[in-house]
Amino acid sequence: MTFTQSPWSLTDLFSSHDSPEMKAAFDEIDGMVVESEALRPSLSPSMPQEAFLDAIRLLEAISRLANRIVDFAGLGFAADTQDQVIQAFQSDVESRMAIIANRTLFFSLWWKSLEDIEAERLMTGSGDYRYWLEEIRHFKPHTLTEPEEKIINIKDVTGSAAINNLYAMITNRYTFHIEVDGESKELTRGELMVYARHYDPALRAAAYQELYRVYGQDAPILGQMYQTLVRDWHNENLDLRHFRSPLAVRNLSNDIPDDVVDTLLGVCQDNISVFQRFFRLKARWLQLEQLRRYDIYAPVIKTEKKYDFAAAADMVFEAFHRFDPRIANLAQRVLDQNHLDSEVRRGKMSGAFCATVAPEITPWVLVNYQEKPDDVATLAHELGHAIHSQLAADHSLFTFHSSLPLAETASTFGEMLLVDHLLRTESDASVRQTMLFRQVDDAYATVMRQAYFAMFERQAHELVQQGATVDELSNVYLENLHNQFGDAVEVSDEFRWEWVSIPHIYQTPFYVYAYTFGQLLVLSLYKQFKIEGEAFKPRYLSLLSAGGSKSPEKILSDAGIDMHNAGFWQGGMDVIRGLVEQLETIPLAK
Ligand SMILES: [Zn+2]
Repeated sequence: MTFTQSPWSLTDLFSSHDSPEMKAAFDEIDGMVVESEALRPSLSPSMPQEAFLDAIRLLEAISRLANRIVDFAGLGFAADTQDQVIQAFQSDVESRMAIIANRTLFFSLWWKSLEDIEAERLMTGSGDYRYWLEEIRHFKPHTLTEPEEKIINIKDVTGSAAINNLYAMITNRYTFHIEVDGESKELTRGELMVYARHYDPALRAAAYQELYRVYGQDAPILGQMYQTLVRDWHNENLDLRHFRSPLAVRNLSNDIPDDVVDTLLGVCQDNISVFQRFFRLKARWLQLEQLRRYDIYAPVIKTEKKYDFAAAADMVFEAFHRFDPRIANLAQRVLDQNHLDSEVRRGKMSGAFCATVAPEITPWVLVNYQEKPDDVATLAHELGHAIHSQLAADHSLFTFHSSLPLAETASTFGEMLLVDHLLRTESDASVRQTMLFRQVDDAYATVMRQAYFAMFERQAHELVQQGATVDELSNVYLENLHNQFGDAVEVSDEFRWEWVSIPHIYQTPFYVYAYTFGQLLVLSLYKQFKIEGEAFKPRYLSLLSAGGSKSPEKILSDAGIDMHNAGFWQGGMDVIRGLVEQLETIPLAK
């Protein structure tokens, strides 16, 4: 079968934004919202089970239709970000959906207000909805009275949310200037950071120096914003809502026990020498005495190899098929139904993603395929996401989507299947070596870098409470980098401002450890696959099929994995060490 490239088709959702079907969908959703509001008075702790389920099914139907409309707009925008008609449609959809969300909010508020014993009775017969219902109630012990919650909501708009908006506004306006081939360029951050992976060491250094020159200039303001957000986090979550620690707030929304995160971060700290060893190896490849922080993503091998799209698709499907024909078929469905947009086009959104609309609809995948080995890996990654949601299609709309810590499982695993396939079949040694280096580069960026961000956050939240200044926080950050890199990497002073350039630590405190969790989980699973072979496959497939219908802890323990056990996480680290050892055996060909 020869696969070709074309823009995707959205007709499985709607024929167009102004079609009669779209109008009918809006009417239908309005009708259902009115119907659900009418059910409101019948909600009571003693209501019949069937009526309770009917109310949930109605909410599910509303969400399903809302998803179809929202994703039609979002995918249309991604396919052509310059299309003003779709832009206008998208903002109209957004405001209509916000109203719908407000009008249906009463259900979760009521559900949280029930006593445990009352909720338990209703949950007993709730089947696949159960975990979704449980999750809403997780926040009950930390929920305040309705008037208090309202005050927090109102004050957040002009408080923490406003500070986050200001942070985004200030930093998104930044422009960066560097000289490339004698020509002065004005760049966005994204464009600038391309040079962090450039062959030229002077350009790599210039890119980072310019990045932190600009952020450093505003550091007193940006640092003050961070301190304010951290204090707000503490005041609200520890003083008012009685969480045990700043980190525990995030752990509850991820539904990951506190001790698991401590174990995970501890294993990272214990294995820091693996990456330091990799950085020393990289220095040798780059013929440097010592690697500079500027060089950690430097390419070490030049590869000219290109794969046309048909060859790439064949490779990905072959790699998947070898593992299990079922997953290859699910990936192929995305192409067969014309749900993949892979070509590079003017106005099309950059990057790559997989969009899952509802369990019964094949997901849509966007990539910008440019024939490099990296692009093949990205294709495998995004199709992996599509496999994951299709495997979980038997669940409800509320429970088929995997939770954040497990969301990258099938994608990263799919990428590893592809890399393995390439290492086995590709005769060009430069491609094989590029893929190996890429894997460890990615593991650093996803596992270790994020773990150390989380450790910095933990420390910073404590220090801000003790009145630390912005300069003191920067010193602590620099120390964090020195602990991370040891004597393997020279860290120059401007990196003290790196933390004020990380939006995640502002907008979603402690979000970053989910990356560490996800990537180490997959590496560890991959190790089990290598050891167990066939016996591993059904356990892995049922882990994916669970979607988000159970807690991450339960999903993993059903697959025989104890996330409390440091040994499990160490298994992931062992895979990285194995890759580094493999790289160490390659003779330096210069
Ligand atoms: Zn992904």
